[in-house]
Amino acid sequence: MHASQYLLLALSMFTCCDTSVGSDVSFGPNTFSDLLSALTDIGYSKAEALPVPRLPLSEAKTNYSTSLCAAACNFLGTILPNITSQPGSASYVGQEANYWSNQQAETLPSCRVQPQSALDVSASLLVTKFFRCLFAVKSGGHAAFAGASNIQAGLTLDLASLNIFHVSEDRTLTQVGAGNRWGEVYSQLDPLQLSVIGGRVAGIGVGGLTLGGGISFFSGRHGWACDNVRNYQVVLADASVVEVNEQSFPELYFALRGGGNNFGIVTRFDLETFPQGDMWGGMRDYPITANASLLTGLYNFANNAPSDPDAALIVAFVYYEGEYLANTDIEYAKPVVNPPIFNELMAVESLTSTMRITNLTDLVEELNVVNPSGFREIYTTATFRNDLNLQSKILEIFVSEVSGIKDAEGLLPALVFQPITKDIISYFGENGGNALGIAESDGPLILIDISFRWSNSVDDDRIIAAANHALGQSVALAKSLNLDYKYIYQNYASQGQDVFAGYGAANQRRLIDISKKYDPAQVFQRLQPGYFKLSN
Ligand SMILES: Cc1cc2nc3c(=O)[nH]c(=O)nc-3n(C[C@H](O)[C@H](O)[C@H](O)COP(=O)(O)OP(=O)(O)OC[C@H]3O[C@@H](n4cnc5c(N)ncnc54)[C@H](O)[C@@H]3O)c2cc1C
Repeated sequence: MHASQYLLLALSMFTCCDTSVGSDVSFGPNTFSDLLSALTDIGYSKAEALPVPRLPLSEAKTNYSTSLCAAACNFLGTILPNITSQPGSASYVGQEANYWSNQQAETLPSCRVQPQSALDVSASLLVTKFFRCLFAVKSGGHAAFAGASNIQAGLTLDLASLNIFHVSEDRTLTQVGAGNRWGEVYSQLDPLQLSVIGGRVAGIGVGGLTLGGGISFFSGRHGWACDNVRNYQVVLADASVVEVNEQSFPELYFALRGGGNNFGIVTRFDLETFPQGDMWGGMRDYPITANASLLTGLYNFANNAPSDPDAALIVAFVYYEGEYLANTDIEYAKPVVNPPIFNELMAVESLTSTMRITNLTDLVEELNVVNPSGFREIYTTATFRNDLNLQSKILEIFVSEVSGIKDAEGLLPALVFQPITKDIISYFGENGGNALGIAESDGPLILIDISFRWSNSVDDDRIIAAANHALGQSVALAKSLNLDYKYIYQNYASQGQDVFAGYGAANQRRLIDISKKYDPAQVFQRLQPGYFKLSN
């Protein structure tokens, strides 16, 4: 018998593995022969050949976090060589460069797998479960903190090649592979005079944005991205590929609308599609002295927006190259210059303006340019009642926190206000309701996003502390004024924020129960540690 066949025999009897994940739990497949059978069952006939991991088992057993993943990676490199990238290879290096923040790009998995089909995702999941190798899933890679969609010494599934795009004949549905970025989606829809609810910056991935909520320029008319998914194609914890919609799996359909990466790996989103032509919008910069007028404009817009659901607004304050500035992003879903809803804000004198009639692709490309990759980043967030005094005081807190870190290299801190208006919230109840736990009677709400960018890792601790301190003080102030609100937007949250508690106790419990039903071994909670888990 050849040495490798002895090894195969040993492996076939081997039950993988005693690990820190808990040897009491079986993620399945349990033995190597089970794994080979499972792979053969889903169509990987090559698995019957000799896909022996090159790493000796004794070594594999000694170090869970690295060696077992190395074994998984060697195995995947054998059965799926074209889509498995080992460290040092050009494709591994290229994929690592495709994260927005440097903290994520500096996170180095044992290998990267770039599935080309749902079946590849399914096979990769079977393998990573067998080896108990911790994994992460990446769509557009815009989550800021390390480990959100990449994993040190684990296995990263990079969905970038799942990039199908197909519009139904009746033009009411667009099927979008989970690895697409919004710029790619809009640039194909704009020529058809169609659109979908998605991100406002070209480089954001369809996957993360849609699973966490998804604020769009058209949210006043249709709600958030998660409210506009008619069907999800998902690889579940048992590696089966299912179509999830309100009829087929109503519980999962609820859970995926806000549940993040906790329920499965979504391989395709089928999005509600509507006619959309050119629109009016752009960015305006102002001196910081315009702050009071802009905050008043924001306050009134948040209250009045339901009178004109075509309007969308972001108000931001930044510190850039030695001075504070204010900025608005004003968008209108029709090709109408200066619609009355924006009269108050447009009356504020700006330093610069890019307001124009154009298409969505152009607008999201513009915002992509001002949000470049290649920096260290933190996003952190809270939601408050709409109150002018509170918003003014939060700006003071921001200015005070930034004053202590101004010397940091490449610093660009921003305080961003976005209204969650009553008309937006009215769509959260569509299709049986999403999981976010926000009632229309709670609106209008103001979402704040404190986002700091900087260049040098030596400044990490103090900048992260400043951002967290600014948020903590803002929340404390809101509480003291009875203007706080429970919701924490997953897509802007920092590591450690208790996102699911913010959905309300009943929704959090419901999500946990659904997760236990469809993922009894808790694969997506325990083997995929990154991002926001259901119970912190
Ligand atoms: C510059 C910038 C602009 C932004 N603009 C907006 C905006 O306009 N509107 C808005 O609502 N938010 C916005 N965000 C926030 C954005 O929605 C989140 O950062 C989101 O997580 C990014 O999605 P992604 O796919 O690019 O990220 P990734 O980092 O790839 O994924 C984020 C999380 O989702 C999980 N995930 C991704 N795809 C899948 C999948 N198919 N199946 C299972 N899990 C998956 C990942 O595992 C990860 O945990 C912005 C963020 C940035 C940095």
